Amino acid sequence: ILHAYTAPFRGAGEERGAVIVLRDVTEQEREDRARRDFVANVSHEIRTPLTTIKSYIEALEDGAIESPNHARKFLSVIHTETDRMVRMVSDLLQLSRLDSGRESWKFTQHNLRELVQNACFRFAMQLQRREVSLAFEVPTTLTVNVDADKLDQVFDNLISNAIKYTQDGGRIRVIAYRPSGKFILVQVVDTGMGIPKEDLPQIFNRFYRVDKARSRVMGGTGLGLSIARQIVEAHGGQIQIDSEEGQGTAVSFTLPVATGGNGA
Ligand code: ADP
Repeated sequence: ILHAYTAPFRGAGEERGAVIVLRDVTEQEREDRARRDFVANVSHEIRTPLTTIKSYIEALEDGAIESPNHARKFLSVIHTETDRMVRMVSDLLQLSRLDSGRESWKFTQHNLRELVQNACFRFAMQLQRREVSLAFEVPTTLTVNVDADKLDQVFDNLISNAIKYTQDGGRIRVIAYRPSGKFILVQVVDTGMGIPKEDLPQIFNRFYRVDKARSRVMGGTGLGLSIARQIVEAHGGQIQIDSEEGQGTAVSFTLPVATGGNGA
């Protein structure tokens, strides 16, 4: 779509004409539409838990509070939904900081194996409850120049997804190696439910989920992958997802090799 502005002019002599300025507004329209969709999505995503919370409060007011069993169950739903909403708003605030460039970054050199190991340990309890195994294979020699808090968040988002969408008894592996001199490849691979082919192109979009209900039950916000992508790209890396429905999923991202760091 082109917007054209024309302005007639008359020169000093007899010449006449018009100045035509052509501007491509396709990109701007796309951005406007994306912004409108985003606001609509946010409103919907926040209204859904609020509606749930409200209906449970009403049920308590209508008498459920007299039954300790019901009251406890209803309060627990209210608690879970409130937690998820808080998480969603925190994620949204972070995305807005990342979008606007207001996020502050502290890049320092870290041993990648230590970062991965710590990330895996954070999930020990959850893994035990779910009977899902998590193993990592990272050479001790890989050094990366990263904002460790942000990279932790990438690991947390990817590993928690792998756990959420993998059935009990499944296996998760975190692998890192240096396929070339320039970058390090990190992969989180699971043997879970996988993602249908038609959903893959949209999977990094904000709020995009294959199964909204499942994501919600699992406490998801639909923002984890978009945050992971923003953080990886801010480190100069790229992220991609490969998946086979019913077989499993592999999320791979690259990180530049720290200058002066060792490789394996
Ligand atoms: P959510 O909070 O819903 O997990 P994400 O942005 O982290 O949001 O992921 C978006 C969607 O991608 C998920 O709802 C799920 O459908 C799909 N997904 C992400 N990771 C995996 C995975 N490891 N296995 C299967 N599906 C996944």
